[in-house]
Amino acid sequence: MIKKYIFLFAFCTLSALAADLFAQPAHPKQDSQVVLQSVCQSFMQHNDSEAFRKAYLPLEKKRDLLLLVDPEHTLPPNYEPHDLIRVPRGFLRKEAAVWFYKMKQAASESGIYLSPVSTYRPYEYQLYLKGRTSNPEQVANPGQSQHQLGTAIDFNTTEVKNESLPALQWLKQHAGEYGFSLSFPKGEEEETGYPFEPWHYRYITQEGVAMQNKFFGGSQHKMLLFLNMCLWNKPDPKAATQND
Ligand SMILES: [Zn+2]
Repeated sequence: MIKKYIFLFAFCTLSALAADLFAQPAHPKQDSQVVLQSVCQSFMQHNDSEAFRKAYLPLEKKRDLLLLVDPEHTLPPNYEPHDLIRVPRGFLRKEAAVWFYKMKQAASESGIYLSPVSTYRPYEYQLYLKGRTSNPEQVANPGQSQHQLGTAIDFNTTEVKNESLPALQWLKQHAGEYGFSLSFPKGEEEETGYPFEPWHYRYITQEGVAMQNKFFGGSQHKMLLFLNMCLWNKPDPKAATQND
C-alpha cells in the first residue's frame, strides 16, 4: 500500500515536471535536470513492482519506436527510418504499416473509412512546409515533428472543427487496440508543445498503449518523457541510433 502511494506521488510529480519543462522554456536548465533526477529516482522505486516490470519488458526492445520528439527534443536532419514501406499517401515504418492495415480493415468492417492525409515526412519536407505556411504556429519545426519518425499518421482531415467525424470518433475508441495513440490531446497542449490534433496518431505498439494507460494516465507524452529521460537516459534523439 505504501508503495502504491509512493508511486502516485512520483507520478504526480512527474506530471508537474513535464508541465514545468514545457511551460517555462526560460527555466534554468540546471534546475530542471536536478528536479528531473529526483523525480526519476522516486519513480524508479517502482521498477520492482511486478506490474511495471511486466509492462516495461516488451518496450525495452522497441526503443527506436518510442523516441521522444517534440519542441524540446529534436531529430537530426539526416534521421531517416531504415524500414519505410509504401502505404496510401506516403510511407510508414514496417511495423506501423502492418498495424495500420489491420486497423483500417477493422474500421472498414464497421463502415468507417480511414484515409491517411499525411504519413512519413522527411526533415527537408517539414522545412518546406514550415517555409510556405501562412500559420507557422500550426506547423512543427523541422526535426520536431513525429512525422519524421515514420510512425505518425494524420487521418482524414487536419481541421479541428472536424473532430466529430465518424472516423476520428472510431479512432478515439479503437486506435489503442492496434498500438496507435493520440499524440496531442485536448488539455495537454502545454506539455506536448502542440495544439489539439484529433487526427494525429502515433504508433507506439500495443504494449506501449497498455503502459501509457496503466501508468501514465493515458498520456503518450508523459510515458515517452519518462522512458526516454528517466529509463534510457537519452534525452536527445540525436544520441539515439535507429537500429538499437
Ligand atoms: Zn500530424
